[in-house]
Amino acid sequence: MQVSRNNLLFIFLFAGGIILPTAILAYLGFRNIQNEVYLAQKNFDENSVSFQSEIEDAVSREQKKIHQEAKGASLFLYEQPHGLLDFGNATEFKSVDGIEAMFLFNKGNLVYPDISSRHFSNTQNFSTSIPSNREKSIFAEEQENPSSQDKIYQNRLARSMHPSALFFDTPEEQVQNLLGMIRYNYQKKNYDNALELLEILEKRPHQQGYLHADLARSANLLHFEILVAQKKHQEAQEYCLRVFKEFFEDQNITDIASSRFFFESAFTQILSFEKLPQERRDAFWNLRENFNRQLGYMEILFKHKEMFSEILEDNVSSKEGILYKQNDDVTLLRMSYPYLSGDQVVIAKINNKAYKDRLISKMKLVAQSWKSIPFSVVDQKDSIVLGSIPDSSSIVSQATLSDAMNWEFTLYEKDMRDIKQESRKRMFLMYGLMLFSLIAVFFGSFFMFRFVIQERKLLSMKANFLSSVSHELKTPLTSIKMLSETMSRGRVQKMEKIQEYSNLIGKEATRLENLIGAILNYTRMEHGTGAFKWEKLDFSVCTQKVFDAVEDIGIEKGLEFQVHFEPGAYVMGDYTALYSLAQNLIENAIKYTNAPGKITVDVQVVDNHVIFSVMDTGVGIPSSEQKNIFNDFYRVGDEMTRSTKGSGLGLAIVKRVVKTHRATISLISKPGKGSTFTVKFKKAE
Ligand code: ADP
Repeated sequence: MQVSRNNLLFIFLFAGGIILPTAILAYLGFRNIQNEVYLAQKNFDENSVSFQSEIEDAVSREQKKIHQEAKGASLFLYEQPHGLLDFGNATEFKSVDGIEAMFLFNKGNLVYPDISSRHFSNTQNFSTSIPSNREKSIFAEEQENPSSQDKIYQNRLARSMHPSALFFDTPEEQVQNLLGMIRYNYQKKNYDNALELLEILEKRPHQQGYLHADLARSANLLHFEILVAQKKHQEAQEYCLRVFKEFFEDQNITDIASSRFFFESAFTQILSFEKLPQERRDAFWNLRENFNRQLGYMEILFKHKEMFSEILEDNVSSKEGILYKQNDDVTLLRMSYPYLSGDQVVIAKINNKAYKDRLISKMKLVAQSWKSIPFSVVDQKDSIVLGSIPDSSSIVSQATLSDAMNWEFTLYEKDMRDIKQESRKRMFLMYGLMLFSLIAVFFGSFFMFRFVIQERKLLSMKANFLSSVSHELKTPLTSIKMLSETMSRGRVQKMEKIQEYSNLIGKEATRLENLIGAILNYTRMEHGTGAFKWEKLDFSVCTQKVFDAVEDIGIEKGLEFQVHFEPGAYVMGDYTALYSLAQNLIENAIKYTNAPGKITVDVQVVDNHVIFSVMDTGVGIPSSEQKNIFNDFYRVGDEMTRSTKGSGLGLAIVKRVVKTHRATISLISKPGKGSTFTVKFKKAE
């Protein structure tokens, strides 16, 4: 086929406009996908660096915040009067989330809690004051064989309860008997007697040396309760405060537990006095709170006194005035110059859980925005604080988080398997799309070229058709013209000749009519079934008529006919259309069969069908042509066909009639042997 300039231009545009950009896009897509893994890795590296620094920042920011809060609280405490005896103006304690207890020092002396400062006021340096030799010996006495100590107390108590107590001579025995008598009087409600005896006991302080601290406190409690029992509330309060003052002035540290018990009972009872003025109630309330808190702090101080001494002395590693020290059960924070001014030093006991929670909540906030980065934070006991340890990833980097907690922060290699798998999937998708678009382009082009070729073929067919139709039209017209001219000139005299010529004119006119009829039929079919008139008709009758009209042509040609028209072959259809179907098939059989040939036309009813067949012993149709002959204007291009006049419309009309009548058509043909066309209609009831 010759390719026209237009087609070349089209091919060029097609290739340039679709294939080239598709190829470039596909190439870029592939590269993009390949780059993705690399980029993801690069991104991850950058992200993990940012993530680590954000986590570190968050932790150190939060720690600084805690330091600031602790500093604020300590400054507040420094400024407040913290003497416990100024209970009327007791400080409202400022607590810091993450810090359990705070100890304020000035020039090495403990100034808060107040209890200890009083207690150790005779010593210049806290570190030497804890524990002093004197206290050590007291601690030792207390701890030494507690069970035997208990026995001694029980004996003493038993003896003191004995009425013969007064007959004991040693001061210790006297004291014990005195106590027994006091109890006895107290139980018998001889309060005045009991008080008198108590005063004797309390006014002779040297005798208290023989009393164990616990017993001294029970004497105090007894005294207080007698006053309460006597409803001497005012005196009871004053007594309590007096004992409190004495406790401050010469209290021994071994006494904390029993003193706490005494003051707790006394304060509780005082607070339950009905006539206690509100102001005083508040004051006692504050006193109790402060006392308990400060005693609690003191317990902490004594429990970890070695740690406290160490951290107080330790200056070496303190950076910017902040130093943390920890062991298995305590973490201490020391703040000093330049964080605090001058000689101020604050030691805080960290509340591990609250402190951790504060840091963890900040880390969680950061981790939330970096979800895809695997990391872990583990504490010194190797338990996970945050994040998780992946099974098989190698470590990217490690760092220590928080001076206080000493956590180990670890970043892990990202598992790239997912990304790789994802990109592989997209690669396959891309290949699929490429393949699809290639196939689409290929088929598109194929069909388009076929369409173009068909269009060209159709155009040439139409041209052929026009020339053959005009030729067909011209031939009978020429004959008619020639015959009528001859007759009009009066050259034909004989009647037989005139009849013969008129007969010929008539035949040519019929031929013309048939041809025009075929063209009209074709155009009618082209316009669809709208022009049809549907009716129930006997196809045998219709075919008989066709046969009667064309039989002569066949006989003239020297052909033999065998026909069978079974009556009652009813079909639903358009008479004209069915007529032209039968006519075309029978005429073709006549046209394409040479003498001495035989044509069999048959209409019969089989079951629910009407079967119409036209069989000839003519030239036949090569199998390669059989599918084409039903196309519009198609004519088989061999010699025989060429010598036979035709439009190429006959079978196109047949095909359309078959289609519109929902019938089927089949063809059996062998070149040189003949052809059989069979049409199968649905029988009408
Ligand atoms: P035409 O006007 O050429 O007969 P048709 O559409 O009727 O057009 O037929 C198409 C072609 O089919 C014919 O050109 C012819 O080659 C072939 N053909 C049709 N009927 C027969 C037949 N009975 N025997 C052999 N060839 C046939």
